Amino acid sequence: MSFLSIDGVVKSFGPTTVVKDFDLRVERGEFVSFLGPSGCGKTTMLRMIAGFERPSAGRIVIDGEDVTDLAASRRRIGMVFQAYALFPNLSVHDNVAFGLKVAGRPKREIGPRVEEMLTLVGLPHLSNRYPYQLSGGQQQRVALARALAPSPRVLLLDEPLSALDAKIRVSLREQIRALQRELGITTIFVTHDQEEALSMSDRIAVMSEGRIQQCATPFEIYNRPSTRFVAGFVGTLSLIDGVRAEGAGAIVDGTRIELSETPPVAEGAPLTLTLRPEAVKLEPSSDRPNRLTGEVRDAHFMGSVVRLDVHVAGSSVLVDTFNRSAVPPPARGERIDLYFAPADVGLLADRPQT
Ligand code: ATP
Repeated sequence: MSFLSIDGVVKSFGPTTVVKDFDLRVERGEFVSFLGPSGCGKTTMLRMIAGFERPSAGRIVIDGEDVTDLAASRRRIGMVFQAYALFPNLSVHDNVAFGLKVAGRPKREIGPRVEEMLTLVGLPHLSNRYPYQLSGGQQQRVALARALAPSPRVLLLDEPLSALDAKIRVSLREQIRALQRELGITTIFVTHDQEEALSMSDRIAVMSEGRIQQCATPFEIYNRPSTRFVAGFVGTLSLIDGVRAEGAGAIVDGTRIELSETPPVAEGAPLTLTLRPEAVKLEPSSDRPNRLTGEVRDAHFMGSVVRLDVHVAGSSVLVDTFNRSAVPPPARGERIDLYFAPADVGLLADRPQT
């Protein structure tokens, strides 16, 4: 049995349903992100796990205990919010001690525990400061120490990095992940930032309009998006129209494309293939038996990479080539051959909305 189970959870506010048939299993010690655009229901789902909102239907089970109707204070969950939810009138020490006092821990235990937590987040020297005397990154580390102090069963992080500037965000991302691994605490992380989700998570649940579109490892989400929405939301991807051919193959522009798996549709049925710009090469090689020919529509110089937009039979195929000063990139209007490996071709499960 999984450590955290979310079974068929629905949440409606009046006539509007913002979380729909949400099913997810999270293993003990796993780090799972909810990734999706603003308004897709990430925070609402997180608040239901925390116990701040009650599901309209479905149930939530933590470590074998059905917590659907349990008060938030009794769930033993730690939470860190987007920005600065520290108590402004309490010192760093007292902020971290807060949950321990509420839980009725004996006084003699509280001091050492606060010390231990502040050391864990690298801030033992700031315990007498007040929140206004800390940087944004330090405040979030204190918020993390406060959330972890009562030894929660699950840690919920709601966009904890989004108010910080870029450099601190990256460093705190690494610190949070290292800490989470060290403690082995089951964690749900809400973000709309794909880079954050890809770099931190064991698995990512990509959400759109209250539903999980795909839940998989960052590697699978990036390389094998299963729906048009995921393909469009995570990274840059070319979508190529074709039809199913015999065996593990497709026909694009009259050319057979070898795939690494047999598509689950009938021969002759339309298909959408996916290709990442970095998987397409301009030179043939034995592991890249697939070739398509197209016309260069545009070449975007991006520094170390030149991104070509190549028109192939009605589809736009993006190609990233490394910039080499000795070899100018193909010019607009030039016809070029593109090569790629069967393993780099993905398939979308859904069809375009008509
Ligand atoms: P963001 O990244 O902007 O926080 P989100 O994906 O976390 O977005 P939610 O905050 O879960 O999205 O909101 C999902 C939808 O539910 C939104 O349309 C929001 O307006 C609506 N919503 C959230 N809470 C309530 C509420 N208490 N009453 C009515 N509607 C609500």
